[in-house]
Amino acid sequence: MARRKNKELLELAMDIAGEEAVEVIKALEKKGEATDEELAELTGIRVNTVRKILYIFYDNQLAEFRRTRDKETGWYYYYWHLETRRLPEILRAKKMAELNKLKQMLEEETSEIYYHCGTPGHPKLTFDEAMEYEFQCPICGQMLMQYDNTEIVAELRKRIEELEVELGLRKKPRKRRTKKKE
Ligand SMILES: [Zn+2]
Repeated sequence: MARRKNKELLELAMDIAGEEAVEVIKALEKKGEATDEELAELTGIRVNTVRKILYIFYDNQLAEFRRTRDKETGWYYYYWHLETRRLPEILRAKKMAELNKLKQMLEEETSEIYYHCGTPGHPKLTFDEAMEYEFQCPICGQMLMQYDNTEIVAELRKRIEELEVELGLRKKPRKRRTKKKE
């Protein structure tokens, strides 16, 4: 698998099932095909967890299995492998969702003026809400000041632009970047 694709796959694994999923996927990639028990042994992760991760990947169409039946015992064995055909599509959908979220955040930041006490985690209030509290933070009682979101707005705009370029919804600004080595 190309390194870039691999990195994206591992990032996605992290997103959908966390650190343990990254280990499982790495092991599976190395082996090519493996049973849940083999993967558990390779990673030191409990077989139930391995199974759960494999099913999450299966649900996302990123893993498939081959089933064989042991003629003597009658037991079924599942041999798992990665399936990355749909990876670009999945990544694109994920980026689209992120883009929409960022646009919504930008909308929220730019459509209202907010008031805030300056302590992270304390609520940002609209003018009307701040009025109700007589411009005092409902949590700590400090005076509410107009909240300067210039940096946040700039950061959101930048990330939106980057994503739109990545998704091909917007042309790359200025010079073309030189092609990165893979
Ligand atoms: Zn406060």
